[in-house]
Amino acid sequence: MHDIIIIGAGPAGVSSGLYAKRAGANVLILYYGESNLEKATKIENYYGFINGIDGKKLYNNGLEQAKNLGIEVKNEEVLNIKKINEQFIVKTENKEYTAKSVIIATGNKKLRPNIKGVTQFEGKGISYCAICDGFFYRNKNVVVIGNGKFAISEANDLKNIVNNVKILTNGLEMENTSEFEIVTQKIKEIHGDERVKKIEFEDGNTIDVDGIFIALGQAGGSDFAKKIGLMLNKDNIIVDENMKTNIDGLYSCGDATGGLLQVCKAVYDGAKAGLSAVKYVKNK
Ligand SMILES: Cc1cc2nc3c(=O)[nH]c(=O)nc-3n(C[C@H](O)[C@H](O)[C@H](O)COP(=O)(O)OP(=O)(O)OC[C@H]3O[C@@H](n4cnc5c(N)ncnc54)[C@H](O)[C@@H]3O)c2cc1C
Repeated sequence: MHDIIIIGAGPAGVSSGLYAKRAGANVLILYYGESNLEKATKIENYYGFINGIDGKKLYNNGLEQAKNLGIEVKNEEVLNIKKINEQFIVKTENKEYTAKSVIIATGNKKLRPNIKGVTQFEGKGISYCAICDGFFYRNKNVVVIGNGKFAISEANDLKNIVNNVKILTNGLEMENTSEFEIVTQKIKEIHGDERVKKIEFEDGNTIDVDGIFIALGQAGGSDFAKKIGLMLNKDNIIVDENMKTNIDGLYSCGDATGGLLQVCKAVYDGAKAGLSAVKYVKNK
């Protein structure tokens, strides 16, 4: 068991790792997929770089700094977090890790696909969390919109509850490593009246559905939040001044918590979260 598992290796995740490790904690950082920092061609407003610095370079420097300090760093996509008997279980595709405390530093993720009808039917047949809402679709026909491991994980959570679950990639490629039927046609519109009724594809075909679960890209902070019962403000995880969420032992930092979406804030948040998590672990 680790003292602290940090999800995310951007400035927030690495900063929390540096502070936690230096305070004596046994830390694991799990990261997967592109961070926002890697998309920034040049950072010119962060302290100490006379001519600015390329975002990708700064990101890789952070990863190296964490490894140099002896932090265990693994490139694995986190699919779910659970808390059972005061212990956190962090699930990746093939493994489960346990920890006394977890820090969510997964950055800022826009969840909504640009499909006509999505906003209209949210809460009326469109859900963003299989574990939370799957029960409402017992013996019904549902789809998951997404094209990665997260979509498969959500379909797995639904398969024993619903009558049928398909994965719709909305025009994106997907390697079919699962038992589920994959439909790759691009979606034109979601139709219904009080609730979702059918999906229309751009080629004119339609399918009848009772529910739609959105699982685009990889799971982000707000996806984990919904699964484990964290309080959100829109898609941002709500934390107090010590980066503590409403669940004991669970912290969040950086873009995942909203506010100023900048490196300086992510680094500050990360330091706070790391120190808070260490204090929590030591008090246990
Ligand atoms: C184009 C662009 C330009 C920018 N320019 C500036 C600028 O000039 N100055 C500035 O200060 N800020 C800038 N920013 C903002 C800055 O990049 C972010 O505020 C900062 O990166 C936030 O850090 P973070 O650690 O919270 O999240 P991120 O840097 O986004 O890191 C998120 C981490 O979480 C990991 N992750 C996500 N989901 C999972 C999962 N399911 N499993 C495992 N790992 C996961 C990712 O791999 C990544 O390591 C810019 C952003 C963009 C997009």
